[in-house]
Amino acid sequence: MTDAITAPSPVTDAAAQSRAAELERNLAAARSRIAHACRAAGRAPSEVTLVVVTKTWPAEDVRTLHALGVTDVGENQDQQAAAKAAATEDLPLRWHFIGQLQRNKAASVAQYADLVHSVDRLPLVDALARGAERAGRRLRCLVQVGLDDAPGRGGVAPAGLERLADAIASRAPRLELAGVMTVAPLHISPAEAFDRLAVLHERLRASHPGAVIRSAGMSGDLEMAIASGATHVRVGSAILGTRAPRNPAA
Ligand SMILES: *Cc1c(COP(=O)(O)O)cnc(C)c1O
Repeated sequence: MTDAITAPSPVTDAAAQSRAAELERNLAAARSRIAHACRAAGRAPSEVTLVVVTKTWPAEDVRTLHALGVTDVGENQDQQAAAKAAATEDLPLRWHFIGQLQRNKAASVAQYADLVHSVDRLPLVDALARGAERAGRRLRCLVQVGLDDAPGRGGVAPAGLERLADAIASRAPRLELAGVMTVAPLHISPAEAFDRLAVLHERLRASHPGAVIRSAGMSGDLEMAIASGATHVRVGSAILGTRAPRNPAA
């Protein structure tokens, strides 16, 4: 066992190299899709931040992605995110928390996250603010809007957006209201969902001009999100692949 750790076998080495090549190819393809979508929308590629979603994949992939120029990584589960952030703390990465968040995990998330995309109810605001205070950090927050009547995917109903945004803004300077996020629901087209988010976002910016981030779009629909004005796209499977390893934390 010890030998395997101190002296990587040629087999392991070859596997790592082929994984790095795969990530490099997929990342280049994703960046090219983003560049095309920006050009089609008359936007500068610098307006769109690629958040690479590494959930279920090992910290070694995060390291490889960083070497390929990735600056922003996203995770949807605190335990995995905390472990990977710790394993790569020597790297200047920004961690995005994008998953449904339990109140009792807020303090942990506040220790490593730069941007929480998924603030969708009032009790979370207080928990995140106290966590940020304790960690001595400043936490940027997005309100996750649910454009779906069916509960389960998270997100506050559009009617509750303003109130939640005000609550986040009231916890400055520990929390910073940075914008909005959505996950396109299943029963309406992504284009329509992203257009609805655009309307809600513009309305919010009338009262909160600093809330400039709009997080929308994933592997399957990033072009539509960029066309509708997304500033952040969250791309997982198109870059990492669809078959996650058995032991993600390894
Ligand atoms: C997993 C996930 C993504 C990435 O989805 P892909 O389809 O793999 O690109 C984006 N946003 C959220 C909230 C996710 O949970």
